[in-house]
Amino acid sequence: MSVKENLEILKSQLNENVRLVAVSKTKPDEMVQEAYEAGQRIFGENKVQDMVDREGRLPSDIQWHFIGHLQRNKVKYLAPFINTIQAVDSLRLLKEIEKHARANQRVINCFLQFHIALEESKFGLSIDTAKQILMSEEYKNMEHIKIGGVMGMATFTDDMDKVRGEFKTLRKYFDLIKNEFFNDDDNFCEISMCMSGDYKIAIEEGSTLIRVGTAIFGEREKH
Ligand SMILES: *Cc1c(COP(=O)(O)O)cnc(C)c1O
Repeated sequence: MSVKENLEILKSQLNENVRLVAVSKTKPDEMVQEAYEAGQRIFGENKVQDMVDREGRLPSDIQWHFIGHLQRNKVKYLAPFINTIQAVDSLRLLKEIEKHARANQRVINCFLQFHIALEESKFGLSIDTAKQILMSEEYKNMEHIKIGGVMGMATFTDDMDKVRGEFKTLRKYFDLIKNEFFNDDDNFCEISMCMSGDYKIAIEEGSTLIRVGTAIFGEREKH
């Protein structure tokens, strides 16, 4: 199946509230270009250097979403062009994004990444830490950040009940944060969930942005 066909199948399963982030990590530019020509505009990468290189080579109206763990010392490379940084997991990172967004005279869309998986290794905020960030004076003074929603990574497992439970938790966190901090702010609207194996569950659980790589571009080589 071609990238175009895979995209068409996927899109036929989305409702009007769900958009697709095509996760192109490790795949050749030609495949990204093929997806672009099929109408896809939002692409996700999880390595800074790969995203910077691609941005220079591919059409300028692509909306790049950074979906991996972002080190503070690398924010400066993304700040000139990044559309959305999906995985903000500390106030220190947010401050660094603000600084470089300001230097580039841009406003950068950010999602708060929540820790929803049981695995210890996964990054992300607790609900209390997220609230502390949003209540801080430092955050309130940021003029070059928009918080556009939440993101989470479920446990890597075949146990779909577990995955569904974790997505429900993310949805609950979204509702809590929305009610307490963004009731009048339509920009805070996105819930970014999932991978290829669980996107159907993510849609059922209210995801507005699904992150899908393998089901579009095929399996990645294991590193
Ligand atoms: C790679 C990745 C995905 C997509 O995974 P697939 O199984 O290839 O669809 C989604 N989210 C994050 C954060 C990723 O790193």
